[in-house]
Amino acid sequence: MGGPWLDENLHSARLILQGEPLLPIDPVLVVHGGAWAIPDDMVEAHLNGVRNAAAAGWQVLSRGGSALDAVEEAVVVMEDDETFDAGRGSFLNREGKVQLDALIMEGATLRAGGVGCVEHLRNPVRAARKILSESPHVYFVAEGAERFAAERGIPLCKNEDLIIPREVERLREFQAHASDEKPDLFAATLSHDTVGAVALDTRGDIAAATSTGGTLNKAPGRLGDSSLIGCGCYADNKTAAASTTGWGEPIMKLVLAKWAADRVASGSLPEWVAAEAINYLQARVNGHGGMILLDPRGRLGVAHNTPRMAWALKTIREESSGISRQE
Ligand code: ASP
Repeated sequence: MGGPWLDENLHSARLILQGEPLLPIDPVLVVHGGAWAIPDDMVEAHLNGVRNAAAAGWQVLSRGGSALDAVEEAVVVMEDDETFDAGRGSFLNREGKVQLDALIMEGATLRAGGVGCVEHLRNPVRAARKILSESPHVYFVAEGAERFAAERGIPLCKNEDLIIPREVERLREFQAHASDEKPDLFAATLSHDTVGAVALDTRGDIAAATSTGGTLNKAPGRLGDSSLIGCGCYADNKTAAASTTGWGEPIMKLVLAKWAADRVASGSLPEWVAAEAINYLQARVNGHGGMILLDPRGRLGVAHNTPRMAWALKTIREESSGISRQE
């Protein structure tokens, strides 16, 4: 039994008694649903999708649930929404299959769970969460990941169950027009609809999750940034929680989520760091994409260099969402 003490790790004065805050911390949830030139006729679906996800995550946080549960629930909503490149409705790889990647990470303990190249899971983030909670390992791929999930009660589905006609057509179009010319990385056809969430709970813990179907027409077995620790997703109570979206190869070369979290730890505001990270992505490797970033004090950043990125934010005082870049 100890008296009240100051938890300096959270960089803020919070009175803690026996591990429980005397003053509950105001929770925060931020989600994104991909960064690209989202066409006008898809704006509403993207905004609805991220708002629904924020509502699901907020339900967890507002009842005193954990940031980890909140990001999982928010991401599940977007995996279930065919608007996004996650779960059913994801982009198809070169062979016309859906191959999914996801990561979830807990800032208090640095526990993480990731799956890569899974073809028979509707909600890869659920499998990632099981890995985080129930495995000594951090990362499973392909059949091994599916077997792990199935053994823990997550039902497997057929790959066809994840494929929708819109994506069959999109792949057909892409392959019909694929040329050796360098693609325009900011073109509307190059969509990045990966989903992600970061959260802060009433105990002062943060978490992050990211889930994706990867890039259109990718080679089978290709893994992007989204499910790699520190690249597409990261969470550490001593730094920040981040989720990225965009062209994965450049993002992973810069280990961008960790890059940003470390800068927050050095004292920079998440708002600036998110913008700085996206500038760095473009300047260093000509990358494009977006990031959501949240520190354990509830300060956040949302940035993208693509024409649009769908995002939504929920706190006790604020509920907002957006899709266009602030110039
Ligand atoms: N980053 C993802 C990937 O490269 C794609 C995306 O964000 O939409 O797999």
